[in-house]
Amino acid sequence: MKPLPIFLAVFCALSFLSQSEAQTVKPDRQVAVTIDDLPAGMADRLPAAEITAMTTKLLGTLRDQKIPVVGFVNEKKIYKTGEVDERIKALQMWLDYGFELGNHTFSHASLNQVGLKAWEDDVIQGESVIRLLMAPRKVKLRYFRHPYLDTGRDLLTRRQAEAFLVERGYRIAPITLDGWDWMFAGLYEDAKKRNDTALQQQIVKEYLSYHDAVFAYSEQLSAKIVGYEPKQILLLHASNLEADHIGELLDVLRKRGYRFITLEDALGDTAYSLPDTYVGEEGTGWLDHWSITQGKIPQGAPAFPAWVIEKTKALHLSTGTVTPPTDPY
Ligand SMILES: [Zn+2]
Repeated sequence: MKPLPIFLAVFCALSFLSQSEAQTVKPDRQVAVTIDDLPAGMADRLPAAEITAMTTKLLGTLRDQKIPVVGFVNEKKIYKTGEVDERIKALQMWLDYGFELGNHTFSHASLNQVGLKAWEDDVIQGESVIRLLMAPRKVKLRYFRHPYLDTGRDLLTRRQAEAFLVERGYRIAPITLDGWDWMFAGLYEDAKKRNDTALQQQIVKEYLSYHDAVFAYSEQLSAKIVGYEPKQILLLHASNLEADHIGELLDVLRKRGYRFITLEDALGDTAYSLPDTYVGEEGTGWLDHWSITQGKIPQGAPAFPAWVIEKTKALHLSTGTVTPPTDPY
């Protein structure tokens, strides 16, 4: 075989180099992390001491890794006889660690289920303790997250609810990335209680790979619907799964090229001013809102792992609850 002419060999080497360089250059992506259902998604099942331990671990990782986070509170979860003080202290920790709190209504009421007036009452009732906690720090309560992402079944209700929130000084916190971590978290909690480490590992592996698939899908949908990848907003929930493994999830995001930004920074992206007339019985993320507003039905979302659903159903049968709890968005 004849050796390659020298100029061709150099050209091949250069093109190989630029190809491999291209593969290692990550896109510059940005994401704001938000965590719902504080003090804990399963606050009714966890004693205050466990909520405190979970919160300490979760916030420790987030602070060490300098991740700005807004945590959204359901104040009803504070009121458990004999534990109110400790549960409030768990919320206080979020502020002590330098994070921000937002309102997620008092009782996690769905606007679509309870109607506008009852829902407005739930918003007001949901802000009394967090306002008190935030006041000495001169931090204004400014963010609101809709429970179940239910923003209204009709446009009039949706707009009235939005006007009510604006009047009370809130900015709605949309979401664009959502891997249903709460579904994994329920199963993980049970496996952890039973010391089933094999199942815990299996759940974590699936939770990470499913989130990775959801991130890839959402990035593609963003490009299609928004025209670029906006500063994304990730929805997670306060749970032992996140306390134990959020570091690994943050690594999944880093591998995809994400930097972590504040919710305020994310909301500055013009995507969050896109036309949005989405209404429906089921709440959903804002990429879906924008798609449906444009008359495009989002397709190709990765299917949620069936075995997690099956095991969750079986768990609720064995514990005497016939149906799994409604999704705790
Ligand atoms: Zn929620």
